Amino acid sequence: MKKIFSIVIALFAVSLALPSHAVNVLACEPEWAALAVEIGGDKVKASSATTALQDPHRIEARPSLISRARNADLLVCTGLELEVGWLPILLQQSGNPKIAPGQPGYLEAGSVVPRLDVPARVDRSEGDVHAAGNPHIQQDPRNIARVADALTQRLSQIDAANAAYYQARNKDFAARWNTAMQKWEQQAAPLKGVAVVEHHKNMEYLLNWLGMHSVGQLEPKPGVEPSAAHLSELAAQLQRQPARMVLRAAYQDGRASQWLSEHAHIPAVMLPFTVGGDDKAKDLFSLFDDTVQRLLEGAK
Ligand SMILES: [Zn+2]
Repeated sequence: MKKIFSIVIALFAVSLALPSHAVNVLACEPEWAALAVEIGGDKVKASSATTALQDPHRIEARPSLISRARNADLLVCTGLELEVGWLPILLQQSGNPKIAPGQPGYLEAGSVVPRLDVPARVDRSEGDVHAAGNPHIQQDPRNIARVADALTQRLSQIDAANAAYYQARNKDFAARWNTAMQKWEQQAAPLKGVAVVEHHKNMEYLLNWLGMHSVGQLEPKPGVEPSAAHLSELAAQLQRQPARMVLRAAYQDGRASQWLSEHAHIPAVMLPFTVGGDDKAKDLFSLFDDTVQRLLEGAK
């Protein structure tokens, strides 16, 4: 009995010695976990539900992920239906009211950015159409800055004691981010007007930012795997309407890109798409450094 008591005392002493509880951030995608670290520093503990090598539309809510959701203070997801196939189940299974939609602990990044491709009407026969607009917002660095502001506000609300800390970090991040954006835009100037083919309609924000455009997708319909018939049609279309390269995200299978690259004689370019998509994209800054370099290389 005496022994148990002394163990309890010892544990209590240890818990007093630890810094106050860090804000537990669960991000749906790696870019938001990286952003949480930029803004939250050592006051947050951030992890992502998906990796850059997983299709964020489709993952399974495994038990280990459910337990991370159960312990989260803040959930940061793209939203706009990107995670509609798994997030509702995850939220329900977590039984964590703090991160329910509408709560301060639930931040939908897509709700704070101007959206592209909002359909005039939703026809599910057209494939996996995102009714709220194109959700792949993270490839426009201006959107990252907007989400950084919203995230700063949310962290300050959840952890008011450290509000000044989050605001100072966001200010510092914004200054470095603006400088980096100017550099990327300068470097990418030769890409203006360049036409590309994408695998899925997930490069729109990047293309829009850099003044590039897409003339087709490898997928016959959003979320439907490339077919031989569609690829030959696309190759024929490119003879009338050429493109300079075919883009895919790190998580997408390269075979269809490779086929088109050989038949249309244009380079297949893999983009990291988010933090961790390749060796160079280690954080948000190097993600865009690498993305711009890969595009320039492809357009040569
Ligand atoms: Zn999509």
